[in-house]
Amino acid sequence: MSKSLRIVRALVGCLMVLVAACAESPKHDRPNILFIMTDDHAAHAISAYGSRVNSTPHLDRLASEGIRLDRCFATNSICTPSRATILTGKYSHKNGVTVFNEFDGSQPHVARMLQRAGYYTGVVGKWHLTSEPTGFDRWTVLPGQGIYQDPVFLTPKGRVTKPGYVTDVITDMAIDFLDTRPKDQPFFLMCHHKAPHRPWEPDEKHRALFAGRQIPEPPTLRDNYDTRGDALRENKQRVFDDLTRRDLKIAAPLGLSAKSRNAWLDTVPTEATVISEGQSITLRGAELQSWKYQRYMQDYLACVQSVDDNIGRLMGELQARGLAENTLVVYTSDQGFFLGDHGLYDKRFMYDPSIKMPFIARWPQHIKPRTTSGSLAINADFAPTFLEAAGIEVPSDVQGTSLRPLFTGAVPSSWRQSFYYRYYHDPGDHNTRAHYGVRTETHKLIYFPTKDQWELFDLVRDPDELRNLVSDPASESLLATLKAELARLRRDLDDR
Ligand code: CA
Repeated sequence: MSKSLRIVRALVGCLMVLVAACAESPKHDRPNILFIMTDDHAAHAISAYGSRVNSTPHLDRLASEGIRLDRCFATNSICTPSRATILTGKYSHKNGVTVFNEFDGSQPHVARMLQRAGYYTGVVGKWHLTSEPTGFDRWTVLPGQGIYQDPVFLTPKGRVTKPGYVTDVITDMAIDFLDTRPKDQPFFLMCHHKAPHRPWEPDEKHRALFAGRQIPEPPTLRDNYDTRGDALRENKQRVFDDLTRRDLKIAAPLGLSAKSRNAWLDTVPTEATVISEGQSITLRGAELQSWKYQRYMQDYLACVQSVDDNIGRLMGELQARGLAENTLVVYTSDQGFFLGDHGLYDKRFMYDPSIKMPFIARWPQHIKPRTTSGSLAINADFAPTFLEAAGIEVPSDVQGTSLRPLFTGAVPSSWRQSFYYRYYHDPGDHNTRAHYGVRTETHKLIYFPTKDQWELFDLVRDPDELRNLVSDPASESLLATLKAELARLRRDLDDR
């Protein structure tokens, strides 16, 4: 072989190595995305958000290593619609899931887009969108709401029962995903917990931890709804008046038929017999009310505690596999939840405890520890955030905005100053009413069309939303401004 031929071959060899490296490197540079979502976990049951009712050390650590968004909201505060918005980056009226209707999985969404761009995609846990998951290389999801103990899951190959407590089981599946995924692709994993959704069934360990614990009552537990509209007054999601014996875990008498037993359990108790210091005591009136709040919160918080433990476990496994540095980890919930606030449990209403979502993100290469942001974020922002993190162009019809500019802690000058909310059921579960409205950083305006009633709140002077200012003459110009802003948002979002 001549000297010049050897040089040419050596150069060609070098070139091939370079081409191979160029083809591989973008894949390896792209971050993994681990999206952890719980169901109905209120931000005010996370100590990083200043909880008065519990302590969540693992979520706190995640927040201290990354960013905590303090004003992140669901645009339609109920499970299925929020999940559809998270996947599509679009409001309910655009993705077609306004209530509990089936998600059309043929539409573009974040998992499909990431999969097409070379991500290995998976979802484990609660799905609740009726149609089978699309855009996922692997999926194992609970049918409907799923159950807490020994849950059944749906997979492409059929049903499978997994023994154990649902939060532990879903975490095990997430860890298995980390181990068995193809290692030459970045991954996108949606890890969706069932907890702490009703019927709030903790495992034994955490039940024991909260048994008998006295949980502080929220200041609005005995809200008299003065100045607010009929929708709040007529609601049936009150801790004192609507939690059933089943919710409160009161054991049914022996000897009832299945039908009678169910009817008995689904009744709201007017008294409860408890054992205190060895004595049997029957609670009624105010004592019964306080007991109901404690019972509800003990179980809810025990379910949350298992989530927190499992977040710690999953983060440890991520670290042990060398994945902690190049993985964007997000923790959120599909909406907030009333923890006795305004006397309520559940969600749906546009009041802050219901619409506020926890949002904690850890991504060491791009987010400095202990970053916080008070800019307005919405669930429609999640999909474009993941697309941008993966270097994928965000389609022009996506209505959310990537949250990446907030990850530095900066307040971008062009960031949204308000957002639009709409809840559709009327009358929905718990006798809720349809409503829509606008929230800014400082104010909120809500309209209940079937009642033709408005509610206006000053969130700075009245953060608990107790004084409806709609009839206050001093608020006339504010009311007009917010009505105009609401009309603008509806127009811009094409919700007619
Ligand atoms: Ca939910």
